[in-house]
Amino acid sequence: MSGCDWQAGSVLTIDLAAIVDNWRQLSALGGGATCAAVIKADAYGLGDQQVASALQEAGCRDFFVAHLDEGLRVRKALGPGSRIAVLNGTPKGAEREFLSSSLLPVVNSLGELAAWRAEAKRLGRGVSVFLQIDSGMARLGLAPSEVEAVADDPGLLDGVAVQLVMSHLACADVAGHSANETQRAAFEKMAAILPSAPTSFANSSGIFLGEAYHYDVLRPGAALYGVNPVPRAENPMRQAVSVSARVLQTREVCMETGIGYGHRAVATRPSQLATICLGYADGWPRNADMQAFFRGQRLPFMGRVSMDSIVLDITDSEDPPTEGDLVDMICPQQTVDDIARAADTIGYEILTRLGARLERRYLGSLAQRAA
Ligand SMILES: *Cc1c(COP(=O)(O)O)cnc(C)c1O
Repeated sequence: MSGCDWQAGSVLTIDLAAIVDNWRQLSALGGGATCAAVIKADAYGLGDQQVASALQEAGCRDFFVAHLDEGLRVRKALGPGSRIAVLNGTPKGAEREFLSSSLLPVVNSLGELAAWRAEAKRLGRGVSVFLQIDSGMARLGLAPSEVEAVADDPGLLDGVAVQLVMSHLACADVAGHSANETQRAAFEKMAAILPSAPTSFANSSGIFLGEAYHYDVLRPGAALYGVNPVPRAENPMRQAVSVSARVLQTREVCMETGIGYGHRAVATRPSQLATICLGYADGWPRNADMQAFFRGQRLPFMGRVSMDSIVLDITDSEDPPTEGDLVDMICPQQTVDDIARAADTIGYEILTRLGARLERRYLGSLAQRAA
């Protein structure tokens, strides 16, 4: 650290204890099912090594990432022991990298299955995989006809031990959606003709569809990080992130001053403004015209969100922030889901964009070690 007060503009605070609490809550909901953790995309932007370590310490032993490189990084943090599965499958020729870091491939196609069969033959021993089947999302996994082909020809699994049969729900966030039951029926039908193995079906929202959706392994991501898994009801999860932004400058402007790009806002009275160090390059959506909070007071945005800054109207504040103060941007009064609603997107997208540029600080059990 240099001698200056602060280097990064704004701060993303990640509450590892809240993430662990959310994992425990989902585990409890799952009854007898094992609760894994989906930590792809750098744990939705919150730091996969820190999140995985905190969850492993709490007893989680199953992790899902999307890419091989994410798996390699998480393996370094976790050491041997826990299972790490790679959802997007095996890049051609990467089998040995999976094996040397004990990463489990999620096999999504007959081609990938053939590659793992060949690898098992070459090694002269069995290999372990997870098998994804497409129960009605048309994204990844074996189609029903391919599942039948595997069921009809056991030779297709020569040397390949399927440790988990999994599928993914397309409409789990809409509890009454008819696709949920259609997918569940398709999943059961396909799993039943494959060699017996533990099964996994539910993402965050899927867990809230009820016990029939739990199977053996739960796969929550977003709910761990505080995104509401039941969008039409009150959020049952603990908030795990907050964002605060530094005030760079304050100024006084006279009536009719144009403010920011395009002069989208024009002062309708003599105004006090504060420019904060957060913009769309930090993950704040350009179309989310909202407010900051300072000691509980609301400070509305004035004009467009810029790449690296936003201008706030502090005219009505009795206790306005001054240069160097931090204002709250994501806080109990303004959650990730609120921002998503304003930006016409989902909490997942807001969350995954925050981590790239903001300074991350960790609270909770592993905060010190992770820092
Ligand atoms: C991302 C993902 C999950 C986690 O989904 P959430 O909605 O974040 O809980 C689970 N399974 C698969 C296959 C995924 O791609």
